[in-house]
Amino acid sequence: MDNVSTWAEKDLKYIWHPCSQMKDYEELPPIVIERGKGIKLFDVNGKEYYDVVSSWWCNLLGHCNPRINAAVKKQIDTLEHVIFANFSHKPAITLCEKLSKVLPKGLCKFNFVDNGSAAIEAAMKVSFQYHAQTGNPQKKRFMALSDAYHGETIGALSVGGVDLYSEIYKPILLDIARIEGPDCYRCPYGKCRDNCSCECIEKAEKTFEKFGNETCALLVEPLLQGSAGMRVYPPLYLRKLRELCDKYNVHLIADEIATGYGRTGKMFAFDHAGVSPDIMCLSKGLTGGYMPMAIFVTTQKIYDAFYADYNEGRAFMHSHTYSGNPLACSAAIEVLNILEDENIIEKAQEKAIYFNRIIKEKFLLHENVGEVRSIGLINAIELVRDKINKIPFDSKLRTGYQIYKKALQKGVLLRPLGDVIYFNPPLIITPEEMDFVVNVAYDCMTDVLGR
Ligand SMILES: *Cc1c(COP(=O)(O)O)cnc(C)c1O
Repeated sequence: MDNVSTWAEKDLKYIWHPCSQMKDYEELPPIVIERGKGIKLFDVNGKEYYDVVSSWWCNLLGHCNPRINAAVKKQIDTLEHVIFANFSHKPAITLCEKLSKVLPKGLCKFNFVDNGSAAIEAAMKVSFQYHAQTGNPQKKRFMALSDAYHGETIGALSVGGVDLYSEIYKPILLDIARIEGPDCYRCPYGKCRDNCSCECIEKAEKTFEKFGNETCALLVEPLLQGSAGMRVYPPLYLRKLRELCDKYNVHLIADEIATGYGRTGKMFAFDHAGVSPDIMCLSKGLTGGYMPMAIFVTTQKIYDAFYADYNEGRAFMHSHTYSGNPLACSAAIEVLNILEDENIIEKAQEKAIYFNRIIKEKFLLHENVGEVRSIGLINAIELVRDKINKIPFDSKLRTGYQIYKKALQKGVLLRPLGDVIYFNPPLIITPEEMDFVVNVAYDCMTDVLGR
């Protein structure tokens, strides 16, 4: 018989789940999902869950989207995979042609990998090799913001700044130049995000003065530091980083893995700033959350530094078996078609205004809600013990996790980041669905913290 508990038992017999303390599953067994439709998931007993975290921020247009399903089904009967060195295929070419029309100016050469962390690794390698091949072999260092998240492999983890993921590995990580990044909720300059002049850029200036000449690239999550707790900062900060990078001949690598594809209200977060990065990494929304695929895109200038006779040894000798997988490309093409045909991003932006309003109305007055911050449809609620002094709860209380468990009982998949409850739903969420998930989240919060 299909039964949640027997499937869960079998799961735990075999599976080591990502980003989890497996012992927690003694109390909260894995939820075995059978199918998905729109923003909903259904477990093997038919219980439904509103997936307001887009299944790790990647599901863009709903589960089992009929158009993406059809595109992948068509592709699977045509070509499932082919070696991507020396060989190519129409889906990859078509995808690049379409993407090049919507990317920030200057980004035009596409390199395919198979997950976000791999795109970050490859972008770092390309930047290092570029400088080594253009007369700057002293540029060996990478720069990144405090509390950054760029993935889990050794290079990506090195540029990341969230101790929860990297602390234990520090002895084997790269030596990074760290910029104390913007923290608008607890702004040390006493400013607020809407009317500041990014005074905090002085921290970046200092880091550039010290390390700029030996640095290949600065990696940045534009406008939204996701894993840091959905921290939002103004576009002006990106423009100022762009100036610093230009001054010191440092590549600006945009990690748009989480922010791309309309999550911030525009196609890419960099579109808000009106400047272009030198390299951009894409994944997550790229395939609508269907297939593991990622891309990094560079400028012609970077590409040209690798273009030479074979024996000069300048090629980028980096590959992944599944580079440019045709099934993933077919999903990615259909995602772009849907965004365009159905005007998804513009409509999502209209809905975002409503979503933010109902969240603020519901949560803002609660004595443990420190801040409600939003960008696009992403809304985050930072819970604090002391609202006036912005003092967090003791992390050992696992307040966010208690709320998460309550929400699951009530059929909403929230998965807070520490004590930051957030919504990052598929762009197709309806106002009725927004009402439902906001009410459930509020009830769960008050169940745990009181009214
Ligand atoms: C998810 C994410 C990554 C890593 O992507 P994976 O596919 O999980 O390896 C990197 N950067 C950001 C900003 C992300 O959100």
